[in-house]
Amino acid sequence: HIVQSASINSLLEKVLTFTSPMLRQHNIKLEQKLDEGLPFVEVDAERIKQVFVNLILNAIQAMSDGGTLTISTYRDHRWAYTEFTDTGQGISPVEISSIFDPFYTTKENGTGLGLSISNQIVRMHGGHINVESTHKQGTTFSVKLPLPESWD
Ligand code: ADP
Ligand code: MG
Repeated sequence: HIVQSASINSLLEKVLTFTSPMLRQHNIKLEQKLDEGLPFVEVDAERIKQVFVNLILNAIQAMSDGGTLTISTYRDHRWAYTEFTDTGQGISPVEISSIFDPFYTTKENGTGLGLSISNQIVRMHGGHINVESTHKQGTTFSVKLPLPESWD
């Protein structure tokens, strides 16, 4: 577990370099609302990129007929937030309680491990993943990571 100071926006940029061709292939429009003044976070950059990839791949799979993926970053006094909002089929209230369970999948060839691993990685960083979903409208996954302590 290698911790380094990293910019969330630039981790997103790296992940989008290789995921945006897939977005185009699936007619998914990408909208980015990034807080350019976001402070750096202390993270294992490779693992946080893995979390972002997992959430983007899930969004793509939820929007096989196209849609919009909105990626936002913002902060409050303690946390940096990275949000992924898709316009896919959504997750029912019954399903939503299981999505972080290992091996829970509704996909024919799914492993059901993406969210379980992502949740562990984010928790290992002292953060949290939150999900909100509306049936037939879409889903938002929000990754909350602690900002370094500041004395000002
Ligand atoms: P997998 O992608 O292999 O199925 P995940 O752990 O990544 O495993 O996701 C578990 C399940 O959560 C998915 O099978 C799907 O039912 C649901 N899910 C995850 N992300 C989304 C999303 N963006 N929209 C709708 N359902 C989702
Ligand atoms: Mg997945």
